[in-house]
Amino acid sequence: SKAELKGSATFYNYQLNEQIQYKYLLEEELRRALDNEEIFLLYQPQIDTKTQQLIAVEALARWEHPKLGSISPDDFICIAEEIGIIKEIGLFVFRQVCTDILSVSPAGKNAINVSINISPKQLMSPDFIDLITQATDEIGIDRHRITLEITENVMLNELEKTYDILTELKKRSFCISLDDFGTGYSSLSYLNMLPFDEVKIDRCFVNNITISKQSKALIKSILAISDAYGMITVAEGVEKKEQLTMLHSLGCNLIQGYYFDKPLTLSTLHNTYLKQ
Ligand code: C2E
Ligand code: CA
Ligand code: CA
Ligand code: CA
Repeated sequence: SKAELKGSATFYNYQLNEQIQYKYLLEEELRRALDNEEIFLLYQPQIDTKTQQLIAVEALARWEHPKLGSISPDDFICIAEEIGIIKEIGLFVFRQVCTDILSVSPAGKNAINVSINISPKQLMSPDFIDLITQATDEIGIDRHRITLEITENVMLNELEKTYDILTELKKRSFCISLDDFGTGYSSLSYLNMLPFDEVKIDRCFVNNITISKQSKALIKSILAISDAYGMITVAEGVEKKEQLTMLHSLGCNLIQGYYFDKPLTLSTLHNTYLKQ
């Protein structure tokens, strides 16, 4: 009936309105979170498989909300993308990481590198390259030391555009890493379609390396191809000694995971690894 239709339309508007209000709230919360220093970074060591020395760290964002507690980056990065403030959060993260890392590891022979996760929308935004170039100039960190981690799903639909962006980033001396390799739809042949410096083997394969022949075989092929293309290989989520031993024997370059360390605060990173 007409009354029912009208009723459902009102209900629909009401729901839509609620959703919009909720997004406004989250947007405000996230903006406030930035000003309030609720968003901060932890740093997880990446260790040379052969020498067991610290080579680099991956910056991982945390949101500690005063009422809601800690919110996982898997959740708030997604929200930030959806409501369109990923650019601000991403730039905040980028600047904070550069400042942090320069403060505990100044330029020089033993300077460590740092990897920063870049979300697809952030990568594709028109002024991304200029903004991060400006930031590194202003802060004074060498761009060779910065690796940008991007995931496979970024490029599938916009291969040409991604190619241009990554090529320009490399011209400006940033390094590019392919994150979570093996979890998307990509094939091994895809590795040389874009100018990656590094490949990160996803945790799910590393997890199974000592128990599944398929996982081991897959990791072997990823390592062989990466090596042929001159790319650095990083294994993610290494938790056990047996995994490390096998990755070492297969020739994986860097190890990241709880076996060595979980993500650390800047001061713990400094005290544990970087103090002279
Ligand atoms: P990711 O880039 O794949 O990061 C690795 C995740 O694995 C991190 O989770 C890390 O804490 C966790 N991890 C490290 N070693 C181990 C291990 O040995 N075992 C297990 N089970 N887990 C391990 P986290 O910190 O919760 O981050 C989740 C995801 O959120 C990241 O996945 C990344 O995609 C995203 N993320 C984090 N920080 C940022 C950021 O600043 N910007 C963007 N765009 N995304 C971020
Ligand atoms: Ca990552
Ligand atoms: Ca990853
Ligand atoms: Ca991930």
